[in-house]
Amino acid sequence: MTDRDDLYCIGKIFILEVAMSLGISERAKRVKPSSTLAITDKAKQMKASGIDVVSFGAGEPDFPTPKNICDAAKKAIDEGFTKYTAASGIIELKDAICMKFKEFNGLEYEPRQIVISNGGKHSLTNIFTAILNPGEEVIIPAPYWLSYPEMVRLAGGVPKFVVCSKENGYKITAKELEDACNHNTKAFVLNTPNNPTGMLYSRQELEELAKVIIEKDIYCVSDEMYENLVYTGEKPVSIASLGKEIYDRTITCSGMAKSYSMTGWRIGYTGSAPEIAKAMGSIQSHQTSNPNSIAQRAALEALVGPQDTVAKMRTEFSKRNDYMYSRIKAMPYVDMIKPSGAFYAFVDVSATFGMKYKGKPIDDVFAFADRLLNDYGCAVVPCSDFGFPTHIRLSYATSMENITKGMDRLEEFLGSLS
Ligand code: PMP
Repeated sequence: MTDRDDLYCIGKIFILEVAMSLGISERAKRVKPSSTLAITDKAKQMKASGIDVVSFGAGEPDFPTPKNICDAAKKAIDEGFTKYTAASGIIELKDAICMKFKEFNGLEYEPRQIVISNGGKHSLTNIFTAILNPGEEVIIPAPYWLSYPEMVRLAGGVPKFVVCSKENGYKITAKELEDACNHNTKAFVLNTPNNPTGMLYSRQELEELAKVIIEKDIYCVSDEMYENLVYTGEKPVSIASLGKEIYDRTITCSGMAKSYSMTGWRIGYTGSAPEIAKAMGSIQSHQTSNPNSIAQRAALEALVGPQDTVAKMRTEFSKRNDYMYSRIKAMPYVDMIKPSGAFYAFVDVSATFGMKYKGKPIDDVFAFADRLLNDYGCAVVPCSDFGFPTHIRLSYATSMENITKGMDRLEEFLGSLS
């Protein structure tokens, strides 16, 4: 070793020690790693070592991004559209989003009310950063998508959970929302169609919730990411479309990921009151600048181009939903409500707790998922981190062949319980 190498090593050890003694922030320490990823990672590792695993863990459509969208991205590169854009997104895409909001959601937004971000997750983190002061509460109905509480905490807020009943389709009632509000409540998170339940709020339910939101004078963060994936023939209702007062208090959030099978492209967007859009735009201008210029052009094509691929994807998901529901309803010890949208089956497995598998009791949802994965090669997501430790989530964003195989395995596993 030369003196230089020695010095380099000493320097490295020194840096490591300083990093360890300085530690990470309290805020970072409070963030929980995602258990969804833990189970999908384990399934991936098993697959990599040659084990035949059916995974119901996916959170993304299993269809390719439509060709017209990919072609638009290629064209953007060829035209040299590869530089910074306006931080909150290009005007053409904002115009297209305004058009989509108007035609699909019945919402009138102007381009200055739109912020385009690096995926729906980024849109949501921008929202919470823009509206929350330290210690302010955000009401999150459980079950919930597991990132909301962490996003709220990272923005300095405090998540407040309201556990919803199965009898009400896991949806929060106006009375439950009203009872959960206090002087410190700043916002309420609505997610329809819902991840993980697949439930859709009706117009009447939204009208009742809107009344409380207006009366309590809080914000409504409306996550409508799965709006294109509804299987009941109903048109999803955007809460902001129900009147001026609720429109003013709502930040409507959507994105390209689920509707157009564009999860990797990372484009999400919001419509909101201009002052909130301005605050979100400023935050974004310092933290990330514009979302990827090429992906913005692709998103533009997705919104203004032909929509037939969306309809095809919806038809396929709908078939899988029907099949999975009929299989699960015929199995012992498990129960579910038929999803209206998204691509998840939310299954109550609480009747298996205390039953025995190979002589050992199933204590909780983790034990259920673990044995099912280890012995039957079937990966499901335990919903403890979704605020519902009696349920599992099965994504049907996988082929019919896999779904059939996975359903057989689940059935066999349940049949072996005593
Ligand atoms: N909201 C919900 C309810 C989601 O399920 C997801 C993705 N799993 C998102 C937002 C974020 O989507 P994106 O990929 O655009 O960040």
